Amino acid sequence: MLSPRQVVDYALQRRALLVAVHSGRVDQAEACDAGAYLQRAARFHGTTVDQTCPMCRKEQLAQVSWVFGESLRQVSGSARSTDDLEQLAAHHPEFTVHVVEVCRTCGWNHLVRSFVLGTGRRPRRTGRRTAGE
Ligand SMILES: [Zn+2]
Repeated sequence: MLSPRQVVDYALQRRALLVAVHSGRVDQAEACDAGAYLQRAARFHGTTVDQTCPMCRKEQLAQVSWVFGESLRQVSGSARSTDDLEQLAAHHPEFTVHVVEVCRTCGWNHLVRSFVLGTGRRPRRTGRRTAGE
């Protein structure tokens, strides 16, 4: 089970951006700028959520989790599935997850929430090996 800490919700920023686009203050192309990399991550690692795209209202949104953290090394900055998150949370002291929603039709994308996962333990610097790993 995941137990997220320091959860930040970006619903207000999301709503403000939507209002700005609908009123013409922000160009729609600017809000719907999901690149090929993000689109692919949405296809392979995303979870389809029961929410229609607020921009085109045609497609159900996908949510992708991106992980960031020093202890993750090369994994940092990549998209991960929920199973991966559980694995990482069990083996790393601390890392940040950014959940981004993506529309695969119009390219709408926005940060939904961010939180911190991990064991919360400081990494041990002693070189002792752990049996059974
Ligand atoms: Zn859309």
